[in-house]
Amino acid sequence: MPKVRKKGHLKAMKPNVSVAQGREYLAIPGPSVVPDAVLQAMHRASPNIYSGPLVDMTHSIIPDLKRVARTQHKVAIYICNGHGAWEAALSNVLAPGDKVLVPATGVFGIGWGEMASAMGGKVEMLDFGKVAAMDMDRIAEVLTADKTHEIKAVMAVHVDTSTSVRNDIAALRRVMDGVGHPALLMADCIASMGCDRFEMDDWGVDVAVTASQKGLMMPPGLGFVFFNDKAAEVRRAMPRVSRYWDWTLRADPEEFYQYFAGTAPTQHLYGLRTALDLIHNEGIEHVWARHERLARAIWAACDVWGQGGPLSLNVPDPAHRSHAVTAINIDPPLATALREWCEVNLGLTLGISLGMATPGDPAWHGHFRLGHMGHVNGQMIMALLGGIDAGLKALEIPHGHHGNSGLDAASQVIAGKA
Ligand SMILES: *Cc1c(COP(=O)(O)O)cnc(C)c1O
Repeated sequence: MPKVRKKGHLKAMKPNVSVAQGREYLAIPGPSVVPDAVLQAMHRASPNIYSGPLVDMTHSIIPDLKRVARTQHKVAIYICNGHGAWEAALSNVLAPGDKVLVPATGVFGIGWGEMASAMGGKVEMLDFGKVAAMDMDRIAEVLTADKTHEIKAVMAVHVDTSTSVRNDIAALRRVMDGVGHPALLMADCIASMGCDRFEMDDWGVDVAVTASQKGLMMPPGLGFVFFNDKAAEVRRAMPRVSRYWDWTLRADPEEFYQYFAGTAPTQHLYGLRTALDLIHNEGIEHVWARHERLARAIWAACDVWGQGGPLSLNVPDPAHRSHAVTAINIDPPLATALREWCEVNLGLTLGISLGMATPGDPAWHGHFRLGHMGHVNGQMIMALLGGIDAGLKALEIPHGHHGNSGLDAASQVIAGKA
């Protein structure tokens, strides 16, 4: 079990009997819980990468991936994490000197923008802070002022995992169309795909980026870039594109190895096949509805707890909260104390603060996050909330009861009664 803790701090927190033995629960916003079926599918000897079952199986993955992104267009697969997928997408459409607009609602927006800048792009950053969604009026103003259409792309993070703000990507497209701006709409769906409703084609997204280790229920290691004809045209006009990141042959391979520009990620592909089966057997609409129900249970518990103590949801407006990750604020250093207590005593790992305060700043210990993406169900969320409830009690952190407890409020939601 990982231990990041200060000596002396834990002694007071240890209950008489630790109840940590048993299956651990990593409730951080990525990597997420990997289903046993996926682990078992990956646990095999390496297959032939030139012909046979792996080749056929990989072809079958492509349409099922596109069904998750809700697109009829293309997908390129990369052996990389989310940062790699960011770079892959930008490498195909951003030439040095090109201008991009980055409406940020957390560190992932800022980070993707910094990557564009490092690749020679001119980045106009609109920082909307850490608790609210993008301000569409402000974006409309900036796009309207860009009379010469210098802005080549708007790079939007659907769910910023650091703040748990969820942005309205369909509304962003309407704003772009409303002012007649021809820029590409690029969406980072790394935290949202397979969790929050995302409709690439219906929403008019030109490039969508995701990775394997969040809603797709896989270990980290695969990145995905979906792109439509408009984005493909921009790619064709690029002065040059890095051979490895080029999406052209990956999306339309003549030879099998071109899917991956080299050796296929063999075991990962078997895991992905199984993860996609899990998603489509459940039904993507149902997957989204399940995430919404579970997220609302978490919010309900937090609302009750917050009525009598320092705990509060980071995003006040439920319409702009992610269904995959929840950022929570509490007086420092209680977030760190609670995380450590849950990890040591319960085998339950909560997510650290990201981007709400700089590490080293005492305020950093006043934020934590819950990952509830992918392979999570009602009993896991009740256990997650029950663990936090026990931590609040053990650490004597004031929290509201409001007639009934936070757990009652959550179970009402899980039961479909609220
Ligand atoms: C996790 C995440 C990333 C980064 O992914 P890595 O695999 O850590 O590189 C980028 N954007 C969002 C929204 C994420 O949730």
